[in-house]
Parts: sequence; structure tokens; C-alpha cells
Amino acid sequence: MIDSARLHLPDFTAGSVWLVGAGPGDPGLLSALALHALDHADTLVYDALVDPRILELARPGAALEYAGKRGGRPSPSQPDISARLIRLAQAGHRVLRLKGGDPCVFGRGGEEALALAGAGVPFRIVPGITAGIGGLAYAGIPVTHRDIASAVTFVTGHERGGAVPEGLDWAAIAQGSPVIVLYMGLNHLARIAARLIAAGRPAGEPVAIVSKATTPGQRVLVSSLAEAAADAAAARIEGPTIIAIGEVVRLRATLDWLGAGAAQ
Ligand code: SAH
Repeated sequence: MIDSARLHLPDFTAGSVWLVGAGPGDPGLLSALALHALDHADTLVYDALVDPRILELARPGAALEYAGKRGGRPSPSQPDISARLIRLAQAGHRVLRLKGGDPCVFGRGGEEALALAGAGVPFRIVPGITAGIGGLAYAGIPVTHRDIASAVTFVTGHERGGAVPEGLDWAAIAQGSPVIVLYMGLNHLARIAARLIAAGRPAGEPVAIVSKATTPGQRVLVSSLAEAAADAAAARIEGPTIIAIGEVVRLRATLDWLGAGAAQ
């Protein structure tokens, strides 16, 4: 239990939904609001990327509902999940909708919030540490650096149907963003890298692939834009992975605090 009065935390009122980011894995990256929600929720509805160590922090007696894929069965549709949240709230539960990373970064938090707003269900959004920032920090890669990179673009590597997002102006991203952070990018990395190189990014530009970032299974592969996809396959890198493309990746050689055991 955390001291919610000292932290000025709001009540988690019955009949409301909190859309909460659980961060990329390490329970130490939970916010005070997220811990408060875990202390008070009646029902948790959680996604596949929420670390099991975080689910163990739920209040004893809270009901846990999984909203991802299970046993080969397809995941519940987004309207089904939203309808479930609304039903639970209308039945008077304190509903904790827990998502990996930040709920509004490639996490459909916006869609669920719209559904709740439409149904008149009170809700709160609790930001979490997104993999594209926190995961890179755990690999010793600052996502920006004053002398190297003054802009960063967060991109999804696949769209709804699984294809490379065609609606994106890859050339503009290549030319305008010194750092590109790819979510869900491993499957299409070869194709995305080819487009970036065609648009002028150097084939030798450093790329870091961080697998299972901030968890005990974290692995980091550093490669080049031209070779990253093949190197990841050869190293049998497993998802989830966050991929950083840009000169900031070179800072890892000096800043890998985790690998150095500096703060463990
Ligand atoms: N809302 C999440 C992102 C959801 S999309 C966030 O803000 O982080 C899912 C993608 O996020 C994964 O395919 C992967 O690209 C990235 N991701 C999430 N957790 C991760 C982790 N622990 N390590 C590496 N990548 C992660």
C-alpha cells in the first residue's frame, strides 16, 4: 500500500474506469497512480504485454481478466473489450484497464477512452512509461541528445492488417527525424530499412534492437540499418522488440549502465 494521502492521489471511485499504463516491464517503473489503482481495483482487465510481476501487485481478491490472445484463440475484438469495460463500470466496479507501456502510445487507449466517454462512464487516463523511451533508457540509449538528435519519431512498423503502414511518408520521416523508434517493427524491419536507405539514410547508420526491454530477459542487439534485420534473425531475437535507428545508439557503448551492473 502506498501513502495516497501524502501523494495527493484521487479516490478510485466505484463505477469508474482507470486506463493505466503499466510501463514496459520492470515493476519499479510503475507510477504512484498505477500502484494506487492496483491497491484499489475490483477488476483488472489486462493485455498481453503487462508483466506478470505487475499483476501480482493487484489487491488480494481483485478479479483478473485477460483481454489478449490465449491458447491460439483470437483476441477479443476492440468493441468487445470496450463493451466489457462499460458493463463492469455500470455494475459498480472499480475497473483497472491495464496496458503495457503508455495506454495512449500504440495501445488503443484513445479508442477505449472514446467508448467510455460515449457511454458516459467516468474515466481517468494514467500515463505509463512507453517502451520507446523507457526500453531504450534500459539499453543505455537516450532517445534524444542535444548535440546529436533534436527530434524523434515514434512509428508503428505494422498497421491493423499487419502490413507495413503505407499511409506513412517514409521519405519524410527518413529526412526529417534524426531518431526513429519503431514499435512492432521486427517483422518488417528489412523492408522499412530499405525504404529509409532509399530515402537517404546511411546503410551503416546504427540500429539497436531491444528485446523484452526492462525485464530479466532483456537482450540488446546493435547493428546497422542495412544488416539489422538479418542480424536479428541470426541472433533469434524474440519479441516484443523496440527498435531505435539513429546516431544516439552509439551512446550505448558508454552508457550501458545495466550491462555494466552499475545500478543493479
Ligand atoms: N503501449 C505500449 C506499446 C504497445 S504496442 C507502449 O507504450 O510501450 C506493442 C509494441 O510495443 C511491441 O510490439 C514492442 O514494439 C513495444 N514494446 C512494448 N513493451 C516492450 C518491451 N518490454 N520491450 C520491447 N518492446 C516493447
